[in-house]
Amino acid sequence: MTANPDVPLDLLWKEYSQGFRDFDDLTLARWLAQTLGQLKGRAWRLSHPLLGAYRLAAQLAHERQTWLKRLVAIPPAYSESACCRAPMLPLLTRDVHEAGLICQHCSETLVPFDDIPAKLRHNLKDWATRYAPVHAVAHWDDRQRKAAGDYDHAYERAAEEAEGLLAQAGRQLAPRLLEFYAAAVWEDQDECLEVRNEDVTL
Ligand SMILES: [Zn+2]
Repeated sequence: MTANPDVPLDLLWKEYSQGFRDFDDLTLARWLAQTLGQLKGRAWRLSHPLLGAYRLAAQLAHERQTWLKRLVAIPPAYSESACCRAPMLPLLTRDVHEAGLICQHCSETLVPFDDIPAKLRHNLKDWATRYAPVHAVAHWDDRQRKAAGDYDHAYERAAEEAEGLLAQAGRQLAPRLLEFYAAAVWEDQDECLEVRNEDVTL
């Protein structure tokens, strides 16, 4: 989650994060713990403003090793993550089969795919397996594009299918993460297929 100076949006988020840089360690830790309490029990869109704010604060806390310092207790509903000792807040992405569930604090793998509880893992694998060829349309080479005939049409259709698959993640899969984790986040966009947050309707 480090800002790329060539990407204007990254610079904007860096500017947003200044709001948290004025917090001292204890204030930051308390804000995170309190906000986790409010995130509890729901599956959140990655694009939700509250989640955006949480991620900025979490990133800063990771830099400052706030959770390692044990300034506040982890809210009781949350387990401690193995990757960075922060409370477990998993992000579901289309790459779940390769990357597992992603930590919202350190951006590393929070739960490797094979460690996801079995009854959920099968559904996630099925979903990711259907998503992969749809997403791949955005990365077709010239030969594949020519073979498709009308590439714009193929791309458009893939984007529509991705909208449906992302909505399924938000409606069915992410809520099931709540059987195992106190709160969850799901990626509600596909930048390669130009599917925006607002295109994914539940
Ligand atoms: Zn982590």
